[in-house]
Amino acid sequence: MKSAKLLNSKVEIIQIDKPTLNTKGAIIKVFGCGLCGSDIVKIKHATKENEDKVVLGHEVVGQIVEIDSNTNFKVGDIVALGHHYPCFNCEFCRIGAYSMCETFKKSNISPCGFSEFIKVDENHLKYTVYKVPKNLEYQEIAYLEPLACVIRAIRRAGYKLDSDNSKSNSLVIGLGSIGLITAEALKAFGVKAFGYDINKNRTDFAKKYGVEYKKDEYDCIFMTSGSSKAINTALEHVRNGGKIIVFSSVENEAGYKNNDIYYRELSIIASYSPSVEDYKISYDFLCNKKANVKDTSTIYTLDNLPLAIEDSICGRVFKAYIKV
Ligand SMILES: [Zn+2]
Ligand SMILES: [Zn+2]
Repeated sequence: MKSAKLLNSKVEIIQIDKPTLNTKGAIIKVFGCGLCGSDIVKIKHATKENEDKVVLGHEVVGQIVEIDSNTNFKVGDIVALGHHYPCFNCEFCRIGAYSMCETFKKSNISPCGFSEFIKVDENHLKYTVYKVPKNLEYQEIAYLEPLACVIRAIRRAGYKLDSDNSKSNSLVIGLGSIGLITAEALKAFGVKAFGYDINKNRTDFAKKYGVEYKKDEYDCIFMTSGSSKAINTALEHVRNGGKIIVFSSVENEAGYKNNDIYYRELSIIASYSPSVEDYKISYDFLCNKKANVKDTSTIYTLDNLPLAIEDSICGRVFKAYIKV
């Protein structure tokens, strides 16, 4: 079968053996997989020594073709899924830092999302696999994992689904696909959401989803931009006593100054990857169209994955979805 692999710093589509169901879990025929910003970061940062371990693609939609499981899934189910699950047992899980859990970091789909078939294990089926509803296109439900990441960031900021958040305002800095769905999810939490980007194409695109910029002081700033310059923009917009949510890596190690944080009593909170609870909320938001991700994806074939990566790096597309 075809599968993507990083070889000599380049992504190539190679022929490998189909995965087999040698432990509990399922084999999934992949219909498509979203290209994540983190895939691009992995490609950029891979070295000759570790590129063999790089797993590309985790925002998968596909159909179960073989299964050995105690869950209710069965052959023929069309599902969307993410790649990591925690152990619920370690010191990280105990304090809710699920994405720091060793099991979380080690767990993955095999061989990678950009493959004709993948193997998922029993815990994926329990925690990160969801049935695709009839009212969504595959490229929409492929947002299950990235939207779950976003929901974790919003919950880390202290917003709760069952609270009245209507007096609170938030600014999302960076209006790429993660930034836009952050604003969409904030609205679903009842928060007044605004967006900022220096790229006019992106701000124009965000306007179609009702996400605009307003000069104001904000309770929370969500940093989805990879530019360290965005830190100053965040400091200019956060209210004294407010929160800045660090939600992307930046190229250099520029950061926040001690006295900004101290005199203004700012909270700097990081958010990385979703918990099991975040998947549940993400699934609800997508199925019930509480977060609108319609018409945000550009579709590529698996053979054109290198082009999709190139186009994404150059900002020619908003979100690439690879049809397998
Ligand atoms: Zn992702
Ligand atoms: Zn754990």
